[in-house]
Order: sequence, then structure tokens, then C-alpha cells
Amino acid sequence: MDLAFTQEDEAFRAEARSWLHAHVPTSPLPSLETEEGFAAHRAWEAELAADRWSVVNWPTAYGGRDAGIVRWLVFEEEYYAAGAPGRVNQNGISLLAPTLFDHGTQEQRDRVLPSMATGRTVWAQAWSEPEAGSDLASLRAKGVRTEGGWMLSGQKTWSSRAAFADRAFGLFRTDPDTPKPHQGLTYLMFDLRAPGVTVRPIRRLDGKPAFAELFLDEVFVPDEDVIGEPGRGWRIAMSTAGNERGLMLRSPGRFLAAADRLHTLWQSLGSPGATRSRVADALIGARAYQLFTYAAASRFLEGETLGPESSLNKVFWSEYDIALTETALDLLGEEGELADTDWSERYVFSLAGPIYAGTNEIQRDIIAERLLGLPKGRR
Ligand SMILES: Cc1cc2nc3c(=O)[nH]c(=O)nc-3n(C[C@H](O)[C@H](O)[C@H](O)COP(=O)(O)OP(=O)(O)OC[C@H]3O[C@@H](n4cnc5c(N)ncnc54)[C@H](O)[C@@H]3O)c2cc1C
Repeated sequence: MDLAFTQEDEAFRAEARSWLHAHVPTSPLPSLETEEGFAAHRAWEAELAADRWSVVNWPTAYGGRDAGIVRWLVFEEEYYAAGAPGRVNQNGISLLAPTLFDHGTQEQRDRVLPSMATGRTVWAQAWSEPEAGSDLASLRAKGVRTEGGWMLSGQKTWSSRAAFADRAFGLFRTDPDTPKPHQGLTYLMFDLRAPGVTVRPIRRLDGKPAFAELFLDEVFVPDEDVIGEPGRGWRIAMSTAGNERGLMLRSPGRFLAAADRLHTLWQSLGSPGATRSRVADALIGARAYQLFTYAAASRFLEGETLGPESSLNKVFWSEYDIALTETALDLLGEEGELADTDWSERYVFSLAGPIYAGTNEIQRDIIAERLLGLPKGRR
């Protein structure tokens, strides 16, 4: 086993580091959950894209660098170490784009991907409904066949970024008479400003509209915006949530950088003994997650699928993130609780980690059944 990076990987790292050093804004952008912050983050996406850093693992034809998974991990390490801004188009880049690469038409890729890469079109994920979260297949929003396309009606919820985003992708029930709930679903893209769409922002604990409810009343979607075959949307959606997502949802770079910041904070406060082991745990956890991810990436490159292993990743990083940010807040004392610091914003967001992208209870069921081979639980 070779644990070293190639010379080409190291050259890529050096190029990324020097670009980021020259371009990362010197003061943090306003929160992307505000109108002003959203616009600033869009402009940052355009700046990244201008030098082909916004989607490094995409083919060059769509603005990427054909960089592959290992260099994507390297880029992410450099990105977070440089303190670069959060990515506003994450849903599009890590969920919709892989779906279009695998299941979209050439016309869809050519039309959708370039404006995603530059942040001109920001995407929201419209999967969840008020009564369809963990049990996504029970979704009720429907699509009815009409000339040249589909009429969508129903309600979606918890759509991150939808308060300011441009377009959304989601699943709709287009055949209500199938024997099983995950059949008869169609995966399609729609415009958040189309006639019939009402976007109602949902405010987070800190008052910022980080999500929205979407109400759809006979919204016309042309056939060209259906991904894959009508009625086969479940299979497509599940493939989106498969291999690459297990790696791409949270790269270790994010946690390595946060653990370093925590360590620096701890040292700046005189290295208090009471928190020594929690800070050490954060440093060790970030490194362990990095190595685990490298191993998964190597297996992925050798043609293996990752499958249920991505549930281990998800449970690990979500619980790790909470422990890390809680340690930072404990170190900061009242200032951490009251001031609108990066750490307090990160803390609020970390609490959602065990819920979004499939709750940790569901992930633990997957681990128990599919990795440990335990009998199915009572459901
Ligand atoms: C910050 C954040 C961002 C989000 N962004 C988006 C987005 O952009 N787009 C989108 O579509 N959705 C989004 N969501 C929604 C998210 O995907 C759902 O909240 C999640 O899937 C859980 O669904 P639910 O809220 O309906 O909870 P429920 O499914 O009702 O679950 C409630 C509780 O019961 C447990 N439970 C349910 N079923 C089982 C079972 N079979 N076995 C064991 N325990 C079970 C759950 O684990 C959970 O603890 C977001 C959520 C959050 C918090």
C-alpha cells in the first residue's frame, strides 16, 4: 500500500494553495443565509469558477479540472485550511450534478451544469415533505401529465437555501396507482420563480431564513426537465445518495481546519488543563476521519462501491462536529454563547448534522442491518 501522494497531486495542492492564498477574502463574507450574504457567496462562486476551482472533479468541458476524488480531497483540505467561504451551491454540485452525469441527457448537462459551476443558478433540494422525511417514499406532491410536460402540485419543506435560490430538484408522484410507494415517482427540476410556486422562508433559531417551504399549485415543467424515465425517479434519487455523496457531503478538510482552529484557540487561552483531552480528541478525530476517507476513496478508485459504509461516515462526522464546537464554546465562555461568532453559527448548524442527509437513527439501522448483519428492527 502506498500512502504517499504523487508528485502531480502535490503540484495540484501547491497550485490550489497559492490560488487560495491570493483570492480568499481577508474578512469573512456575511452569512449566506441572508440576502446580502447569498449574493456575496454567489460572487465568490463566480470567482472560483473563473479559474476553474469551483468544481475541480468535473470534466474540463463543464468548467472542472477532471481532478478525480483524491485531488478533490486535497483541494478541500487546502480550501478549508485557507479559511475560504462556505459553498452556496453545495446541493447542486454534490447532489444534482452527479445525478445528471449518471442519468441526465447530454442536453441537460450542457444546459444546467455551466451556470451551476459559476453560481449563476443556485439549486435547492426539494425532497422532504411535511409527512415524508425519513420515510421519503411516502411523499405526496404529485405530477400530472399534460401536453409537453407535467403539472406539479403539493408541498415540500426544509428546503435549504430555497429562500434565495433559483431552481430546485425533487421527486413527485406521477403514478398514484402503483403497488409500492417508491414506484411511480418522477425526478425533475423546476424553477422556483415559475407561476404557481410560492416560496415561504422558514427562519432558523437565529432568525435567518436558512430553509423554505415550497407550495406548488399547477406548476408546469417541460419534458426536458425530467431526469431519467418518468416513474423511475426513486432509483435515480437513491443512486444520487450513493457512492460519491458518502464522500462528498463532508470532506475531512473541513474538520481538520476546525480542529486546528480549536487547538489555536485553546493555546491562546493558556492551554487550560480541563479541556486538554477534549481538544486532543478533536485533533485525533479529524485525522482519523481523514484517513478513513482516504481509505474509502482508494477503494472507490479500485472500482468498489461504498454503499452502507457512508452511514458510518455520516454518524461519525455529525457527532464529531457537535463535540468540537461545544468544546470551542466552553472555551469561549459567555462570549461564545452570546456573541454572533463563527463558532456560535457553526454550533447552531452542527446540531442539525444528526438530522439532515438522513437521521442518525436511520443510519444506525443501516449499519446494524447491512454492515453488522443484525436482524431487522421493528418498524
Ligand atoms: C439543517 C437541515 C437542512 C435540511 N435541508 C433539506 C433540504 O435541503 N432538502 C430537503 O428535502 N430536506 C432537507 N432537510 C430535511 C431532512 O432531510 C429531514 O429532516 C430528515 O430526513 C428527517 O425527516 P423528518 O424531519 O420528517 O423526521 P422524521 O422522519 O419524522 O423522524 C423523526 C424522528 O424519528 C426517527 N425515526 C423515523 N423513522 C425511524 C425508523 N424507521 N427507525 C428509527 N427511527 C426513526 C428519526 O430518526 C427522527 O429522530 C433538512 C433538515 C435539516 C435539519
